[in-house]
Amino acid sequence: MNIVLLGAPASGKGTQAELLAKKFNLYLLQTGALSRELSKSDERIEEIINSGKLIPQEEMTMHVINFLTKTKPDLKDILFEGFPRFISQYEALESFLKNKGDDIDAIISLDISLEEAVVRISSRRTCSKCGKTYNTITNPAPNGVCECGGELVQRKDDLPESVKVRFEYYEDNTKKLIEHVEKLGKLTRVDGTQSIEEIQKQLVDIVEKVKLK
Ligand SMILES: [Zn+2]
Repeated sequence: MNIVLLGAPASGKGTQAELLAKKFNLYLLQTGALSRELSKSDERIEEIINSGKLIPQEEMTMHVINFLTKTKPDLKDILFEGFPRFISQYEALESFLKNKGDDIDAIISLDISLEEAVVRISSRRTCSKCGKTYNTITNPAPNGVCECGGELVQRKDDLPESVKVRFEYYEDNTKKLIEHVEKLGKLTRVDGTQSIEEIQKQLVDIVEKVKLK
């Protein structure tokens, strides 16, 4: 069972993906974390990420496929967070999985507005050590530090201007993918403005149904 979780910046998809992966014992592929990892050894990628933009679509597909081949070669029970974002990436991933006898079973979109995203993002903090994200309002770190002991910082791409760029990018590009998979009958929408618990409950229900198929 392979699931894709889509959501604009600050939709809470990172937190939800972590909870969902734990609940169903899914392998979590977070492309935000993968991109930041790639940026450590590549200045060009670092610049793209810091400006709030995305790694070019085909290049990102290649990174994801390479990474999966290395870390999850059986390609089973993966939760994709932040990828695919474009129809081209969706089709490339789907055909890669199908060639290995697997598929994308469901796509979930966590919906949120730009105004809400900007409010939420200014309260987001990221662990400088392991990359785990917190939110000073909705998901605070118990002692002001990460559970791994790392210091919490505000990422450059979480600054308001950068958020706007990322949000508009997301809307412009992912809208087409969402419409595409909606026609295929694979899309489920979830209201991202609800509480973390309520959203998680709905996501669990969706995944339970996919499992029964
Ligand atoms: Zn940490």
